Amino acid sequence: MATSVAPRVYKNFINGEWAEPRGGEAYENRNPANTEELVGMFVSSGPSDIDAAVDAATEAYKTWRLVPAPKRAEILYRAAELLLQRKEEFSKDMTREMGKVLAETRGDVQEAIDMTYYMAGEGRRLFGQTTPSELPNKFAMSVRQSIGVCGMITPWNFPMAIPSWKMMPALVAGNTVVLKPAEDTPLSSYHLVQVLTEAGIPRGVVNLVSGDGPNAGAPLSKHKKVPVVSFTGSTAVGRIIAEAGAPDFKHVSLEMGGKNIIIVMDDANLDLAIDGAIWGGFGTTGQRCTAASRVAVHKSVYPEFIKRFVECVKALKVGDGLDPKIEMGPCINEQQLKTVMSYVEIGKGEGAKMLTGGNRLETGALAKGWFHAPTVFGDCSPKMRVAQEEIFGPVVSVIPIGSFEEAIEVANGVPYGLSASIYTKNVNQAFAAMRDLYTGIVYVNAPTIGAETHLPFGGTKQTGNGHREAAISAIDFFTEWKTLYIDYSDTLQRAQIDNAD
Ligand code: NAD
Repeated sequence: MATSVAPRVYKNFINGEWAEPRGGEAYENRNPANTEELVGMFVSSGPSDIDAAVDAATEAYKTWRLVPAPKRAEILYRAAELLLQRKEEFSKDMTREMGKVLAETRGDVQEAIDMTYYMAGEGRRLFGQTTPSELPNKFAMSVRQSIGVCGMITPWNFPMAIPSWKMMPALVAGNTVVLKPAEDTPLSSYHLVQVLTEAGIPRGVVNLVSGDGPNAGAPLSKHKKVPVVSFTGSTAVGRIIAEAGAPDFKHVSLEMGGKNIIIVMDDANLDLAIDGAIWGGFGTTGQRCTAASRVAVHKSVYPEFIKRFVECVKALKVGDGLDPKIEMGPCINEQQLKTVMSYVEIGKGEGAKMLTGGNRLETGALAKGWFHAPTVFGDCSPKMRVAQEEIFGPVVSVIPIGSFEEAIEVANGVPYGLSASIYTKNVNQAFAAMRDLYTGIVYVNAPTIGAETHLPFGGTKQTGNGHREAAISAIDFFTEWKTLYIDYSDTLQRAQIDNAD
């Protein structure tokens, strides 16, 4: 629909000011549920914008690192209050730019609120250790130290939550930030940064540079003055980021793809398991790193599960996420829709049984967006590509299994290791699954999604490189340990030598 109102151009935020792009270019951010709606224009930044943001963050670091952590935390508390006040407005804007339903975008903003309060609390902790020295009249302790400018590169599926997971721990620990949000969802990052400025974050401490991966993300990931890079996104790009950081030994945290599984055992509460598989598989249109894109079902309950699961999938209401009746929104963009459609063909080609869906939705208003029908493949073998590769859309592959041991083997038999879940009433099986599933997160009698901010978040194998987000583990990533020895004996004491008989 044509509009006579000039679109708003959102600028970069560099050194405490909303800044014009150096190259002068801007790009369109459109609503994936209705591509006729322009959400806003954003800056297509390049290396010189990144340089300016990194310079500002480098300068600001000199003073920010010396601000007492409880004072830094006060700014975060104020930011959390502002987020709370504007939750509804930010959630609606997020649905417009990202497409997920309003209940879920409210959850995304809430996650940012929770993380901001949690990390503000860390301002009065940031605990180190004190411990006895092995020598007399000597004191030993360890303290956390900040590191410097942190580059952050984020995906579009949690447009406010994920930037908050990275920024809040980095800031409370005394680092400064340059954030490069996903090109599809910069508005939610803009809101987060706006709130931090209103809360009093000093000039240069937080910088926002929008743009695409190769032109804005890449120069940030290899910038010589950026010692820390925190990335969430695809495994393919994560590998590029890791390689970009290697020559300078940057601290690089990578949170990447997933192929998560729900295991439904023969004694499972089927109603609960089906509800979980619907929410896990089709929440956020399957575009969650923790989405349950595989469901392994015990053969003895397989026919019953399939019948009822497919009925529920067929009943899902797809459309614009701002409508409260809608349960599933669009794919994020045309490319993602095409990826989903290509995997549907791959699944058919390798003999998976199409049980429902499998097509783009284009009737009526849906034709204006990137909608795909919720899709279920049955009778999948664990090695099919649709059961191995991350599709990142509304496609669930159901795999029949004959035993608990087989379920664990299937679950672990993928390149990723983010989240896994088991539905069973057998406590022995539940504990064995908690021990044997090689993932960063395991749920029992709940779907693969639902992370809480005070617990570590991340995955094994090609999902991550050993770090964890959220909780105290995020503080671990954004600080370095410094060990302090204070000798008050007035003599030369030699550890390992002077205390030996
Ligand atoms: P993506 O990898 O395409 O993009 C992520 C970010 O990287 C974007 O900001 C993008 O601009 C930037 N980027 C792209 N190329 C780059 C380059 N060469 N150098 C530097 N930066 C570059 O991922 P996406 O499509 O935005 O997000 C979907 C992916 O993210 C899925 O694989 C999903 O599983 C993953 N994800 C993982 C987690 C987790 O915590 N494990 C959470 C959410 C999403």
